[in-house]
Amino acid sequence: MPIYEYRCNDCQHKFETLVRNSSEPVSCKQCNSLSLQKLISAHAVTSGAPDTACGTAPCSPLPACGTGGCCPGMN
Ligand SMILES: [Zn+2]
Repeated sequence: MPIYEYRCNDCQHKFETLVRNSSEPVSCKQCNSLSLQKLISAHAVTSGAPDTACGTAPCSPLPACGTGGCCPGMN
């Protein structure tokens, strides 16, 4: 289940909430306002593995991004 972060437009309270059903209205945990700003969840941004060798190449000090490989002999 995704966790979403919201900021209340009325009291500026920030909170995270578990959304079981996207049609279910979310209200501020502090003032019960329905006027909320949905923020990008940090949990969602960090999920998944990188699709390049960038940062994962142990065999070369060269930047691997955009080169298609990390080892000179493997290209
Ligand atoms: Zn509020």
